[in-house]
Amino acid sequence: MNDMRPAEMREGVAEASPMMRQYLEIKAANPDSLLFYRMGDFYELFFGDSEIASRALGIALTRRGKHQGEDIPMCGVPVHAADDYLQKLIRLGHRVAVCEQLEDPAEARKRGYKSVVRRDVVRLVTPGTLTEDTLLDSRRNNYLCALAQVRSDGELALAWADISSGEFAVTSTDSRRLAADLARLEPGEVICPDHLLSQAEIGTALKESGAALSPLPGSRFDSQAGERRLKDYFAIGALDAHGNFARAEIAALGGLLDYILLTQVGRAPSLRPPRREEAGAAMLIDAATRANLELTRTPGGGRKGSLLAVIDQTITAPGARLLAERLSNPLTDPAAINSRLDDVGYLAELRPLREGLRAQLRQVPDMERALSRLTVGRGSPRDLGLLRAGLAAAAMLGARLAEEEGLALRPAGLATALERLHAVPRQLEQELADTLGEELPMLARDGGFVRPGFLRELDENRALRDETKQVIASLQTRYADETGIKSLKLRYNNILGYYVEVTAQNAPALQTPEQAGLFIHRQTMAGAMRFTTTELAGLEQRIAAAADRAVQIEIEIFDRLVKSACAEAPALSSIAQAIATLDVATGLAELAEKNRYVRPVVDGTKTFVIREGRHPIVEAALRANGDGSFVANPCDLSTAGRRVWLLTGPNMAGKSTYLRQNALIVILAQTGSYVPASAAHIGVVDRLFSRVGAADDLARGRSTFMVEMVETAAILNQATERSFVILDEIGRGTATFDGLSIAWAAVESLHDVNQCRALFATHYHELTALAARLKGLANATVKVREWQGDVVFLHEVVPGVADRSYGIQVAKLAGLPPAVVARASEVLARLEQSDAAQTRKTMIDDLPLFSATRPPPPAGAVRPHPLSEKLKSVLPDELSPREALELIYELKTLAKSEAP
Ligand code: ATP
Repeated sequence: MNDMRPAEMREGVAEASPMMRQYLEIKAANPDSLLFYRMGDFYELFFGDSEIASRALGIALTRRGKHQGEDIPMCGVPVHAADDYLQKLIRLGHRVAVCEQLEDPAEARKRGYKSVVRRDVVRLVTPGTLTEDTLLDSRRNNYLCALAQVRSDGELALAWADISSGEFAVTSTDSRRLAADLARLEPGEVICPDHLLSQAEIGTALKESGAALSPLPGSRFDSQAGERRLKDYFAIGALDAHGNFARAEIAALGGLLDYILLTQVGRAPSLRPPRREEAGAAMLIDAATRANLELTRTPGGGRKGSLLAVIDQTITAPGARLLAERLSNPLTDPAAINSRLDDVGYLAELRPLREGLRAQLRQVPDMERALSRLTVGRGSPRDLGLLRAGLAAAAMLGARLAEEEGLALRPAGLATALERLHAVPRQLEQELADTLGEELPMLARDGGFVRPGFLRELDENRALRDETKQVIASLQTRYADETGIKSLKLRYNNILGYYVEVTAQNAPALQTPEQAGLFIHRQTMAGAMRFTTTELAGLEQRIAAAADRAVQIEIEIFDRLVKSACAEAPALSSIAQAIATLDVATGLAELAEKNRYVRPVVDGTKTFVIREGRHPIVEAALRANGDGSFVANPCDLSTAGRRVWLLTGPNMAGKSTYLRQNALIVILAQTGSYVPASAAHIGVVDRLFSRVGAADDLARGRSTFMVEMVETAAILNQATERSFVILDEIGRGTATFDGLSIAWAAVESLHDVNQCRALFATHYHELTALAARLKGLANATVKVREWQGDVVFLHEVVPGVADRSYGIQVAKLAGLPPAVVARASEVLARLEQSDAAQTRKTMIDDLPLFSATRPPPPAGAVRPHPLSEKLKSVLPDELSPREALELIYELKTLAKSEAP
């Protein structure tokens, strides 16, 4: 029975108990979800669901009754702690259908003692449709994505929404770009027509995105039905006003909206009208590059130590989410980037304004998420309080920003934010201020949140309730006096309500014929006896009636306020966005000042000039650890058209750091942030590629070398003239000649075919010869100094070629046993002298500088005479007398050979 499928479950329905029958019917309608079936204060799970949940949550599996002759396995979670359990299950990739009791059990009993409380699913909880703060990271968006395809022409579109903030957008994509599009959104869940999963490239991109996948029947992505749904939802006659949507885009948006409404069981969250993002509006960065550059998280998965953590100076949660979103989606339109930079520049300059705004931002709550909870019916009086506080803060922020008028011309982004801050829905603001009290409960039914004096009837009922409580409190003294029992107590519990309690010795005094008419026996305890009186019961009833009425009134007021707030959802959401924009701009301005970042020049050229650039993360780490200061370095991929730099240098010199810092500077600039440099001029980059530090990916059956080659292939196949590529060594995972040949051909291809801007770090010194033949290639090296046999890292990037690798010195620094270091030096010396090394060098020199697609330029380097080559490789101090003699013979032979 435990792994019973829905059809089999339905078969068993007829003979089940009425409650089980109801359970099986609801479960059959939600076969893909774990069913949380509400029973009193618990959500219970039965059959297979209970076994999955008990394992996943580590809770006890019990049994309850029988079904088809077998015990029914069951486990449960208390309602008050359900969020924690939900969170665990969702993290593990499960979906949960929450089934609530839709009536009071007393109502059901009125229909007969066998009737079952009405229940139904009120919500499907899936990884992409969460709204609870406890289930979400407040500083990150949680996207639900929908992928749709128009079968006739293969057109593909990706739509995304964050129902906790109302964002709703779409872009066209294709099977090759899809992985990068998913990587920038990092969705919690992706829905798609089931047939797409079996399409090779698309299926792989979806599976590798790390999101929970929810395949659905293709019919849910019908573009015509989708268009109708969108028009109904946004109450508009045509979608054109919001963008010129392609069919696949409408299909994706429609499918997404349908799924959201399905999971919220008809309760419409407040989504902003769909935004159409032009394909190519965001810089494409594949998942491997994002991970390599540690944009939003480090390899361990944490935020600390990532670029985002270093640059995030935002104060509010919506501001943090907006910054994370911007960093994941650097723009490609220079105008849009410069508009963001203008905002940052304005606030960087006006320090008192910035500080004033930041002080006020500390008062701002997360209005976006409060609003989303209210719209889907999961809001609380506290959420209304957040809106009230948000509106008040918006007014203050607006006033502060407006004060600065005249000091400098306010940039467009901030001007729009100001307009939005001023567009406060006054009526709602007033309503919230007039109605809500100071202490706000998490649940409306707990009451007490409506301000005293707001409604006479409410005040009267509250007074009746409280005064009656006082009357009851005074009864204790009266009863004690009247009965002469000094220790008589008046108490309350949930089962008996109010009662009089006396010790067992005193009890007979209340059971005399005279008193028995007054004190009615309720319960005998060990050592005590409990009674009630007609008077007490009457008073209690009065309290209950007054309290019930008060709560009922408060719930009505709450519902009214929620309705008013939802009606103003667009205005509230626009204010929340303005606050987030302001937070991001002030945060980046603060960052610029604190970390000495400068405004980059960003335009549509292919320029790439950075003066005194720094690696933002390494610099911050050095500062935090007090490990000295970062050595700034320039990068110029524009002058004389030298757009590819070949970087050689010893191990540990700082090559990887240098490559990454330049990529990070591009990302920061196109995010709209100032950059860690003394000057920067960047022509927008359309795609950023990296091939740095590969690790094997055994889960996908790829060795280290294979991963390296897959990444290299992606770069060579996709990089355009506008792309920026960093390659930290390629071909190291295979035999030297193979590796060198691959690296050689890759540099040629980047130079001749892709024609992108690129930094290529390598230990293959042989490659540096290419600079003589490829006119767009320049050699650079990271300087070191040798001091008393040890290597000193200067971390300075200068034009030229490294003399050697210093691998053995670095190994020595790393603590390799001295004997091993000595032996390695010996072997190295031999290798460098041996014929094999000679042969290798000669072979490399002889290798024609071919290009994969074009013949190489005719000019060539002059090959030195073998004699001088041999002499160069000799280390006199390391030769034994016998070896020296052999060398002389060898040199004599070489002297006879002809010059090349
Ligand atoms: P390998 O060839 O062994 O991979 P590498 O040349 O790529 O080495 P990095 O990993 O970039 O070297 O740098 C080594 C260390 O040197 C870094 O961890 C960093 O702490 C420090 N470093 C690198 N560049 C700088 C710099 N510009 N200023 C200060 N410290 C630096």
